[in-house]
Formats: sequence, C-alpha cells, structure tokens
Amino acid sequence: MSVLTIKGLRASIDGKPILNGVDLILKSGEVHALMGPNGSGKSTLANVIMGNPRYEVTGGTIDLDGTDILALPVHERARLGLFLAFQYPVEIPGLSMAKFLRRAAETRLSQGQNLRVSSFLKGVRADMDRLSFDKAFLNRSLNDGFSGGEKKRAEILQLLTLKPKLAIFDETDSGLDIDAIKSVAAGIDHMRGPDFGALIITHYRRILDYLAPEFVHVLFQGRVVLSGGNEIVRELEERGYDWVKEGYGEAG
Ligand code: ADP
Ligand code: MG
Ligand code: MG
Repeated sequence: MSVLTIKGLRASIDGKPILNGVDLILKSGEVHALMGPNGSGKSTLANVIMGNPRYEVTGGTIDLDGTDILALPVHERARLGLFLAFQYPVEIPGLSMAKFLRRAAETRLSQGQNLRVSSFLKGVRADMDRLSFDKAFLNRSLNDGFSGGEKKRAEILQLLTLKPKLAIFDETDSGLDIDAIKSVAAGIDHMRGPDFGALIITHYRRILDYLAPEFVHVLFQGRVVLSGGNEIVRELEERGYDWVKEGYGEAG
C-alpha cells in the first residue's frame, strides 16, 4: 500500500502565497475528490505535488511511503508512481503517441530497459478499446490537433499504460461531452484497486457520480477546510460555495 502524506504545505507563485497549510492524506485503494472555488489553489496543489518548479514551497512536507518527495525532481516523482493529468495537455508534434507511451512506460515500469514492442502495443490497444479510442491515434503526434475529448482519452491512456500508484486529475472532466466523461471515468475505474489511489479535482458532480469517491475535500483560500463523504458534493450543488466562504473565509 502507498500513502502520500501532505502536512502544513505552503507554496507561493511569484512571491504570492497560494497554499496556506494544506493537510491531506491519500492512500492507494482510495479515490478522493477535491473541490473548491476558482482560485482556491487546487491546481497549485496538484503542481506542487508533482514538482512543477514554477511553484515555490515555503513550508510543510510531502512524504510518499517514507520518502520526502519535495527534494525530488518531477521525473523521479513519476518513477516513484505519481501521475498528474494536466488541465492543459502539451502537444508534441513529431513524437507519435505509440513512441511516447513506450518511452514513458520504459522509464516508469522497467527502469529504462526496452519493452517488447509487440506485447506492449497489444496491451495499449486493449486499453484503447476500453476508452473507445480509435487506434489510428497511435500513429499521430501526441495531442497535435487532438480535440478536447481526444486529449483527455490520450491522458487516460497514459494512465493505463504507466499504472501509477497515485494519480491526480486536474479538471480532466471540464469541457468534455458525456461520452468522453464516461470514457475518462471508465479508465480511472479500470485502474481502481488496492494498488491505486486517485485525487480527482473537479467542479462537477457527473464524474463523481460515476466514480463514487470515498472522500470529498473542499479547498478554500489555500487550505482544506472541509472533508467528508459524497454528501458534500450534494450540499455544494444545492448551496454553492457561499456557505463555505461564510464559514471559513478570512472574515468568517
Ligand atoms: P484553482 O485551481 O483552485 O482555480 P489555482 O491554483 O490555479 O487555483 O490558483 C490559485 C491562485 O494562484 C489564483 O489567485 C491564481 O491567480 C494564482 N496563480 C495560479 N497560477 C499562477 C501563476 N502561474 N502566476 C501567478 N499567479 C498564479
Ligand atoms: Mg481554476
Ligand atoms: Mg485549477
């Protein structure tokens, strides 16, 4: 079992404090949802966990199974089994998706050894079926000219290929049609099990209805101000964030 323990995490961008003491524990075998108003620091938290150097960590700790990951660069965090699905995926013209997936898998799964191409591609094709993702995309440049839904399917395909221990999805469901949301949810659901945990950052109930997370957290002004179960999602849908702001805001 893997455990990611975040304690008192503080982070800034360009000298502006964004995270003001985040406490959160994610374990494999669990799916967590993270909600919160725009600007509350959700993407910042995802980026800091993954090690994006633009964000300055000014306090607190992040520990993965006894390793202080704040000291590690992004690729080493990925090698330890962390995965971040970006809100705005990068396009890499000239690198086919098949090649990209194979390189990424070789780094993550076999310490740089070469994978057997035929059996590797067989697994990737099965995963593409699972996501209703046209196999013609394997030969296309990664994300180059992909629609929103195709980019998200490509991301989930990376997830299924890399088999991380803990994955973070930053608004992966935003702007997707219903079929694409279902594919994304099916991919995450396929990973589910004792060796996999997820943090789903979202504004919407739909993906959470599919995934039924065990825990729901609300981030506000750079802190987790509320944690509980699915009832929080219903409450937010009915009442919006005003009650959170009133209860936990600077003036509250
Ligand atoms: P959320 O994902 O919850 O909407 P973010 O983490 O994106 O929140 O942003 C939190 C705050 O940090 C916002 O006030 C935002 O304007 C600011 N911020 C985020 N990224 C940057 C950046 N690259 N440069 C300057 N400010 C940023
Ligand atoms: Mg935002
Ligand atoms: Mg965000």
